[in-house]
Amino acid sequence: MPELPEVEAAKRSLEKTVLGKVVARAEVLRPVALRTHSPKEFHRILEGRKISGVDRRGKALLIGFDQEWTLIFHFKLWGWVRYHPSNPRTDSATTAMVYFKDGSGMEFRELQLSTLDLVRTAELERVDFLAEMGLEPLSTALTLPRFRSLVQGRGNIKNVLSDQTRIAGIGNLWAHEILHAAGILPQRKADSLSEEEVEKLFKATREVLKKAVELGGEPEFQDALGNFGRYPLAVYNRENQPCPRCGKRIVHTRLGGRPSYYCPNCQH
Ligand SMILES: [Zn+2]
Repeated sequence: MPELPEVEAAKRSLEKTVLGKVVARAEVLRPVALRTHSPKEFHRILEGRKISGVDRRGKALLIGFDQEWTLIFHFKLWGWVRYHPSNPRTDSATTAMVYFKDGSGMEFRELQLSTLDLVRTAELERVDFLAEMGLEPLSTALTLPRFRSLVQGRGNIKNVLSDQTRIAGIGNLWAHEILHAAGILPQRKADSLSEEEVEKLFKATREVLKKAVELGGEPEFQDALGNFGRYPLAVYNRENQPCPRCGKRIVHTRLGGRPSYYCPNCQH
């Protein structure tokens, strides 16, 4: 499930490849994934438009066309955006393809519950999930006092950290990696954290995400150029494997119906 570092990797790889390109044709093969327009309208709106920007907000990728329209790719369970330098071809896993005038293409494929919405850029603020989204964890707006006010409540700290309306972009995978780096158990109640633990968590959030962005995200994710992420995960999906810090075996359990991983020795 792509989260902030993966969507950021997708964004950066698209900036390098599709920015400034002009759309020759836009094709939707799985109409159910495009929630706002029919395939015909999608083509009619995008034809002749130039890619004017690629942005990220939380786990969503925003692709601008002539600063008038924005295609929102909301990564949910899984999905890829792929750049094809030449001869873009669709297959049974293609959801949508944008063909450019120079012969290259941008493909959205294997979307599992992921959605595409085409909205007028001027109306972006009215898109519910964007309007409700919390602070970007790597922005300067997220100071330690702000962080302290956000990670409160009776819920477990893993859920609080991955609540998109508080902090945007952290999901189940990176919440567990951050909690391991901070030495805090995912099942702890947010309210039970000491001031010192909150500060540790704040630092870990920044450090882990910064490094994850630098390394292109988790190892199963591929950016638009097909480059895999290179971040060495410490706990996530590593049941029974040694903790990179202390060597004890990583524990796998379930927390609120989702898989949960931690080191019983380093995390308290
Ligand atoms: Zn450990």
